[in-house]
Amino acid sequence: MNNQINSILIANRGEIACRVIRSCKKMGIRSIAVYSDADRNAQHVKLADAAIYLGAASAADSYLDISKVIQAAKDSEADAIHPGYGFLSENAGFARALEKNNIIFIGPRADVLELMASKAAAKIAMEKAQVACVPGYHGTAQDNDTLIKAAGEVGYPLLIKASAGGGGKGMRISRESSDFEEALAATRREALRAFGDDQVILERYIERPRHIEVQVFADQHGNVVHLFERDCSSQRRYQKVIEEAPAPNLDENIRNAMYKAAVAATAAVDYSGAGTIEFILSEDGEFWFMEMNTRLQVEHPVTEMLTGIDLVEWQIMVASGEALPLKQPTIQAHGHTIEARLYAEDPDNEFLPAAGVIRKLVQPAQNQSIRFDSGVISGDRISVHYDPMIAKLCVHAKDRNTAIGYLKDALAACWVDGISNNLDFLQRLLASDPFTSGSMHTAWIDHHLTELLEHEDLSRELTIAAAGIFLQQQLQADKQAASPWNTTDNWRIGATATQHILLQYKDQIFEFSTSGTAGRFVIQSASEQTETAVECQLLSLNKNAFQFSLRIGQQDFERKMHCEHNSYCLVAETSRLSFNQLKWQASAEMQLMANTKIVAPMPGNIIEIKVQAGESVNTGDVLVIMEAMKMELSLRAEVSAVVKSVIEQSSGFVDADTLLIELEIETL
Ligand code: ADP
Repeated sequence: MNNQINSILIANRGEIACRVIRSCKKMGIRSIAVYSDADRNAQHVKLADAAIYLGAASAADSYLDISKVIQAAKDSEADAIHPGYGFLSENAGFARALEKNNIIFIGPRADVLELMASKAAAKIAMEKAQVACVPGYHGTAQDNDTLIKAAGEVGYPLLIKASAGGGGKGMRISRESSDFEEALAATRREALRAFGDDQVILERYIERPRHIEVQVFADQHGNVVHLFERDCSSQRRYQKVIEEAPAPNLDENIRNAMYKAAVAATAAVDYSGAGTIEFILSEDGEFWFMEMNTRLQVEHPVTEMLTGIDLVEWQIMVASGEALPLKQPTIQAHGHTIEARLYAEDPDNEFLPAAGVIRKLVQPAQNQSIRFDSGVISGDRISVHYDPMIAKLCVHAKDRNTAIGYLKDALAACWVDGISNNLDFLQRLLASDPFTSGSMHTAWIDHHLTELLEHEDLSRELTIAAAGIFLQQQLQADKQAASPWNTTDNWRIGATATQHILLQYKDQIFEFSTSGTAGRFVIQSASEQTETAVECQLLSLNKNAFQFSLRIGQQDFERKMHCEHNSYCLVAETSRLSFNQLKWQASAEMQLMANTKIVAPMPGNIIEIKVQAGESVNTGDVLVIMEAMKMELSLRAEVSAVVKSVIEQSSGFVDADTLLIELEIETL
């Protein structure tokens, strides 16, 4: 059976919708996006050949509404629907409804989706296919007595899992029989709330395991292949953070046995399309089937970079009835690939997801070795309604160490301003010993969390930041003076300058003054009353970033600094510091250049207006407190001045760029 697919509706959003659209374009297929109120201006809408509005921002009213998605496919005359991951991708009812409407579902058959959606049913099917499953209980009898008895047989510690669960939710450890009933009740409640089904399974809790999954592919003609493994052991609270392939330090016999089991599992359910068989591997080398994901995985770029195969293209080919284009022996893996997930979340605040406008998103240059999959650009918004992922950064190199180096550089080249994110947390993960040595297990991040959240010495980093700004200003001054400054070590000898530097970090202001030449100077911190001698050298410079090294006392540091206007981000190997530079009221000339209009930097609520018209204010004084993106922002005076006017509204919502306060600088 061959069904030509000429147009595809992508029933998803964000990076995965953009990703699928890219393959459609490559294959000459018309792509149709769908969107909610929150996504009117989203990148996937702009990228697609056509876009259809679904409904309100909440997923239930848009991306999860089966009838609206089907209507959109009919209206746009789509031949097929690609569901991406999440949302309706594993929904058997959706696949059935598409079948009824003669629209091709790019994924496996509905009955396979149904089977694999239940962890209990999947395990029964796998046992039949003689694929080893984690020892446990997955029976239909769900009364307390049966489960307590089964728990005793499984042994402690054990894991209680919602049979319908996914995404790391609906799982609880029970360490001994005395806590079992309470954990069971809690898991059932959570399962019912999150998945509408309170059936549970019990599994032996494997201590310090690895999560290794095998990418499989099958067509409608009975061909099944694997596309090697991905090691997803770097997780936080059962959610993947870093994925890589090949799995480091994995015994070849185990690896090959996993491939064999994965292909057998796939064939056993007469699968078609892209799938992932997840295994759990114990410390002593035993592995078991955990579950099958019946869709494209978030981490599929790892496999694409490893094999050079476009998995979305294969999905489309299989869905249109074609045979798999390659046989197992011709599928090759090359080098090493690592992916890191960049999230809008606050690692310092229990990884609380963040929402709001990404003021600035700088990404590394993409090439054969670096891939940046994202659905947002500078100015776009991370919505509270969906997953807070900003991007996936994936690198490919000849070996693991080189790949780690590439990923470190690529992370340093990223700059996300305006929204909390995990960039520095990822930097610390990559530099951490369990990761560099390739000895990860699924709890390694949680076990090392305290040290992974440690920050560099703030006052030292601020001093380095101020030194970097001084260096930058001297460079600019030299450029403007058209001096023959064109190499990194050709400093203007003898030229001295004194600069005052005012940095705003969170709600605090730090004052520095520097004197000397750009290469060698003394920097004084007003708050700490310290004086530091610095030797500084520019290493590289491009449009919005520069790299410099500096020596303070006997210590050497190397830093990268992103900058635009007065926003900066200082990047060290395992940390980053975002701050603003405030203008200094040193000269009347500078004061005149200062910003006297205080506007709302983004839509939000006024919490407090701290000044009245006619009042005098000093540089750095807080004028207005706003709440935006769930954060409090203090808007400060950039100069000493008198308040000329204040917005009449004293609280409540204002749009971005609303003029809140106007200042007037008194002439000297
Ligand atoms: P989900 O469907 O929510 O993704 P999984 O069954 O795939 O749930 O498990 C997610 C993660 O939980 C795994 O990657 C692993 O880290 C951990 N896990 C699952 N089962 C076990 C187990 N039996 N013992 C120890 N850890 C487990």
